[in-house]
Amino acid sequence: MIKLKNLIKSYITEDIKTTAINNIDLEINTGDFVSIMGPSGCGKSTLLSILGMLDSPCQGEYLFNDKDLAKLNESQLSEIRKANLGFVFQSFNLIDELTVFENVALPLMYNNADKSLQKERVNGLLERFDIAHRANHLPQQLSGGQQQRVAIARALATNPKLILADEPTGNLDSKNGEEVMKLLSELNKEGTTIVMVTHSDRDAQYGNKVIKLLDGKIHHSRPTEVLEVEC
Ligand code: ADP
Ligand code: ADP
Repeated sequence: MIKLKNLIKSYITEDIKTTAINNIDLEINTGDFVSIMGPSGCGKSTLLSILGMLDSPCQGEYLFNDKDLAKLNESQLSEIRKANLGFVFQSFNLIDELTVFENVALPLMYNNADKSLQKERVNGLLERFDIAHRANHLPQQLSGGQQQRVAIARALATNPKLILADEPTGNLDSKNGEEVMKLLSELNKEGTTIVMVTHSDRDAQYGNKVIKLLDGKIHHSRPTEVLEVEC
């Protein structure tokens, strides 16, 4: 699904150059569940933003389903994003003024989906994630775990092939965190490819591959079964 070749991303602020991603090669296959780990400042968010096509590299290649993204304009990128990607954030990023139903329906509205299809899809997701009884509530009326389930439902509304999750359990207690990880794992088993940034070795175990970044480079890349879990 994804091939990164010799990828470099630097930022220049006030004549100081920071290389956030320093020559990364990476392949992500359909069906993978990849965890990206590493200390603060090592380039995890930058890599996730590039994978999510929200930011572009300075050098190197990003092939998504064999398409070279550097050759596409912003509206073509936006089409690829809409058709393929779902985002999940640490801070949920729900819209406070919209109900649970409306939050989940948002990506379908952007895609101009038929109203009855929107209703069917959103209600199906809310039921699956056990939040249907909260459809008309506002995000602030929900627990953190429920809010993240709403956020995942929203990410899934358009049936994306790839979910990019930035510390999805970072603001949750361990019980709710585990529920969210089980949900992501289930989605992965159903075929959704997942790339997740995490600080938790335990969360990383839900995936099949772990990439450890250090100073913008891949320090280790290995299947999860060789990792030891720290509890
Ligand atoms: P992580 O997510 O692992 O904490 P980041 O990808 O956020 O790492 O950052 C990697 C490096 O790039 C850091 O040194 C950070 O300060 C720098 N950086 C990230 N975003 C910007 C930006 N917009 N402008 C300048 N420097 C940035
Ligand atoms: P943090 O992990 O620090 O809480 P977020 O998970 O909120 O950060 O955001 C991670 C990255 O995704 C950032 O680079 C940010 O610019 C981008 N981002 C955040 N919210 C959105 C959004 N609603 N749509 C698109 N990109 C976003």
